[in-house]
Amino acid sequence: MGRKFFVGGNWKCNGTTDQVDKIVKVLNDGKITATNVEVVVSPPYVFLPTVKASLRPEIQVAAQNCWVKKGGAFTGEVSAEMLVNLGIPWVILGHSERRALLGESNEFVGDKVAYALAQGLKVIACVGETLEQREAGSTMDVVAAQTKAIADKITDWSNVVIAYEPVWAIGTGKVATPAQAQEVHANLRDWLKTKVSPEVAETTRIIYGGSVTGASANELAAQPDVDGFLVGGASLKPEFIDIINAAS
Ligand code: PEP
Repeated sequence: MGRKFFVGGNWKCNGTTDQVDKIVKVLNDGKITATNVEVVVSPPYVFLPTVKASLRPEIQVAAQNCWVKKGGAFTGEVSAEMLVNLGIPWVILGHSERRALLGESNEFVGDKVAYALAQGLKVIACVGETLEQREAGSTMDVVAAQTKAIADKITDWSNVVIAYEPVWAIGTGKVATPAQAQEVHANLRDWLKTKVSPEVAETTRIIYGGSVTGASANELAAQPDVDGFLVGGASLKPEFIDIINAAS
């Protein structure tokens, strides 16, 4: 069976209750013509229960992070157990903003992925190179090292979606070309094939993130190894529906 197209919307640290209500209305009223697509939106923690309760049932929700181990004396953190308790099925881990701004290492992200999966969450695990790394020709080394840190800690990939998000494309308006995205996705799938297993390589969805818009989604979606998108800025706008429909 083919890999089901996956579209995630990362709302990041944005929104008031009024704005969240408006986004939910757009999502609930939008005409989704694609039939074989999994859609997951990721509001900030504080809005998760309301958004989950008010969204149409075919759109799921994700947290943007969770703590690396069991909850307890970790002020300000939210545990995987809490997300499970609230019925939140997905979590985004290893987003480049957290890696860069909060110093999350590859190993820390690997530990988080393993812990979240063990609690029953599904994980959108983000990897991607900076502009300097791309210009130095080390894109695949960076992405492989980030993925290896996850592969070292898990054996079951069935609840993992890998988001390839080049840092230079996130929030910059500089979307990767379809060929650039396809090249990394194909290399990453090849890496999974040799370092994990052919079955994991074949079944794991590798989605692209970085300034995807309604205008760029169709051509990117047509690439054989692009299995969907993780969308930031455009997931707050009506064009998110067009991005979902790029799955058709
Ligand atoms: C993201 O934050 O994951 C992202 C891809 O953002 P944007 O679409 O705004 O580049």
